Amino acid sequence: MDSCLFCKIVAGTIPCAKVYENETVLAFRDIDPKAPTHILVIPKEHVESVHDVPAEKANLLAELMMAVSAVVVQENLVEAGYRLVINSGSDGGQAVVHLHVHILAGRSLHWPPG
Ligand code: AMP
Ligand code: ZN
Repeated sequence: MDSCLFCKIVAGTIPCAKVYENETVLAFRDIDPKAPTHILVIPKEHVESVHDVPAEKANLLAELMMAVSAVVVQENLVEAGYRLVINSGSDGGQAVVHLHVHILAGRSLHWPPG
C-alpha cells in the first residue's frame, strides 16, 4: 500500500535497522524504543491487523509468529523473558495500520499495561 510507512520500509524506500528477514516477514528495531530491546515484526504483505487476515491466508499469521520465535532466539531473549504486543485500532493505540508484533525485552515490564 503506497501510503503505508511499513510498506515503504518493506520496499526499502525508508531505511530500517533490520534484525531478521525471510520471504514473508521482516523484523527491525523500533525507532522510538520503549524498552532496551524493542523490535517490530511485520508481514511483508500489507494487512491492517489480525482481524484483516482471511482464513485462506492463515499461514501468514503462522509465518509471523514463527519469525517472532526466530528473533527471540537470535537476540537471546528467551532466558530473561520478553513480551509480545499487538496494538489494534484507536483504543488499542495502533499508530501504524500495518500488522506488527512488538517484541519488548531487556527490563522488567509492568502488568497490567496502561
Ligand atoms: P503502534 O503504536 O503499535 O502502531 O506501533 C508503531 C511503532 O512504530 C511505534 O512503536 C513507533 O515508534 C514505530 N515506528 C514508527 N516509525 C518507525 C520507523 N521509521 N522505523 C521503526 N519504527 C518506527
Ligand atoms: Zn503496509
